[in-house]
Order: sequence, then structure tokens, then C-alpha cells
Amino acid sequence: MKKHNYSAGPCILPQEVFEKSAQSILDFNNSGLSILEISHRSKDFVAVMEEARALVLELLGLEGKGYQALFLSGGASLEFLMVPYNLMKVDGKAAYLDTGTWANSAIKEAKHFGETVVVASSKPENYNHIPKEYSIPTDASYFHCTSNNTIFGTQMKSFPTTNVPLVCDMSSDIFSRVLDFSKFDLIYAGAQKNMGPAGTTLVVIKEEILGKTGRTIPNMLDYQQHIAKESMYNTPPVFPIYASLLTLQWLKNLGGIAAIEKINEAKANLLYTEIDRNPLFKGTAAKEDRSNMNATFLLENEAHQEKFDAMWKAAGISGLAGHRSVGGYRASMYNALPIESVQVLVDVMQELEKNI
Ligand code: PMP
Repeated sequence: MKKHNYSAGPCILPQEVFEKSAQSILDFNNSGLSILEISHRSKDFVAVMEEARALVLELLGLEGKGYQALFLSGGASLEFLMVPYNLMKVDGKAAYLDTGTWANSAIKEAKHFGETVVVASSKPENYNHIPKEYSIPTDASYFHCTSNNTIFGTQMKSFPTTNVPLVCDMSSDIFSRVLDFSKFDLIYAGAQKNMGPAGTTLVVIKEEILGKTGRTIPNMLDYQQHIAKESMYNTPPVFPIYASLLTLQWLKNLGGIAAIEKINEAKANLLYTEIDRNPLFKGTAAKEDRSNMNATFLLENEAHQEKFDAMWKAAGISGLAGHRSVGGYRASMYNALPIESVQVLVDVMQELEKNI
């Protein structure tokens, strides 16, 4: 039986993506060849790459606005250093908002390249909220933030207006909500939440911000090289990109980001309403900053843990254990998680209340 998969990533993808990508391994486009054995330069794969890059821009509303979409490898973690390499001016500085473990990792990498100003941090409160009062140095090469903090269950509901390029790690909420994506100059996201399997990273760049640092950048880490080679500077991760294309097509057929946003809001509402109502549970993140993707919560009384764990496992739920830095539970409700799965979890929480 298919589990209710709350994994934080890699995570649930649409069932039709599993089926179609499985079929492509056996026989891709009725070619008599598996997608795993064809050249990335073959006509069939070049078409996949072109469609995926175009569909990203279409879904984000960035077509014809000077942006390029790339499918790279190395995870979002490689972007932590590619961003400063490509954007931080020699002898310049960059500004960062520290909202969690991943933001912190990005800050650490930026420090290798120059002055890294942390404009605000919620670390002293174990990252349970998004800092709101801060100012961004006007002479920074860019400002970097993390739209959704996968581990701590917080999400930026608004973004600062600034004169410096805006860079955002959207790994865990890209394609989940309507934003004015044209406010951002560079967006990156590991595929393995809302876009596809692990193995590729989406980078969306406003081309005009590149080539201004005065640095010599090794080819493999140079966004301009990847753009010039149409995201095929080296052999791209063919299969993760194909599965990502299938997920993007699924999203488009559903009505795009505006349609999935409504579903994501309904799922988050259902679960947070129960967390707040049920006296056995409490949320860990500040209410105004709660993530619609990753809901983090605790049992008020840890003595109920064994019983609760046994109950949700028996209900076919998987991947609900919290990250060690927060403890308790984390329900990751990415795009492909159906609302029915959230109802199953809410039912279990109500069952627990009745049985205590
Ligand atoms: N940023 C965020 C917000 C993440 O959630 C993660 C991983 N879960 C990363 C960066 C790191 O991504 P990767 O493992 O692809 O390097």
C-alpha cells in the first residue's frame, strides 16, 4: 500500500511522475532505448532539456524577462559557493539573512570569498522565527535569503525591497506559492522537494547581474559558461532532469503555481488548525512565520510519544520524525502530498486525544 509520505526530501512526487519515469527507463519515447543509455546530445534528450528550461520560466512568470534557467549538479550546497563566486565583487561584500541551518551553511561558504555581513539572525531562539527588522548595506554585491527553512518550519512571507540583487535559496518551497519572481535576481533550489528526484539543482538567473565581480571563475563553477552551453557544459544528470520535467508538466496541467498554492494552503490550514486545537500538541515556529511546506510540532507530554508513533505508523504514515535540531515531528507537505494524507494525520492526532 502506498504510504502517506511526509519525508522532508527527497520526498513524495506525483504518482504519474513515478510511472512515466519508470517507463522511460524501459523504453524512452518508443525509441527502443532506455533514457539511461542515450546520449545527452541526442535529439530526444535535447528536447527534454529545452522544454524543462522553458517550462521553469513559464511557470515562474519569467519568460522574456532576461532570465535563464539551468539544471546543474552538486545540490543546493554547491550553489552556496557558486553564488559568491559569481556575484561577490573582489574586495566587495555580501549580505545574508541567517534563518536556519541551510542559511548558515551558505554564510560559511560566502566567507571564503569576502566580507559577509549577517544582517540578522534568529539563531539565539533556535531559528523559531524570521527576523524582520534589519537593513541591507547598499554597497553589498547581493542580499541572500532562504525562503523556506526546511528544518525549523519557518517561511518568509515577504521579502525585502532593496537596491542590491536579491538571491534566494528556494529549495524547499519553489513552485509552491505565488510570488513576484521577477523581484529576484537569482533563485536556486535542489530538485528533491517540489521538482523531482535528487541529482539536479535548478538555478534561475537574471543574466545581466553576471560578469561583474572581477574574479576569474573556473569554468565548471561559472554560470556564464553553463548559460553559453545551454545547461550542457558537462554531461547533465539526464534522469533527474527528465523526472523534473514530468513534475513541471504535472504542475502546469494542474493549473500552475496559483492552483497548487490553494491546495497547499488548505493542507497547511488543516494541520495547523489541529496542532493549535489539540491540547496534546504545540507548534514550534512563530505563528506568523509558519511554513506551509514543513510543519514542525511537539507533543506537550513526551510520555505519549511511543503511543503516537505506533499510531501514525499503523495508519501508513512515513517520514514524520522531526529533525534532531528541533525534535518532535515534522510534517513535510510538498506539492505532491495529497490533502487526504493530511487528513489521515489529523485523524490520528484526534484519535490520540481520545485515547489518553
Ligand atoms: N537549502 C535548503 C533550504 C534545504 O532544505 C537543503 C536540503 N534539504 C539544502 C539547501 C541543501 O541541499 P542539497 O542537499 O541539495 O545540497
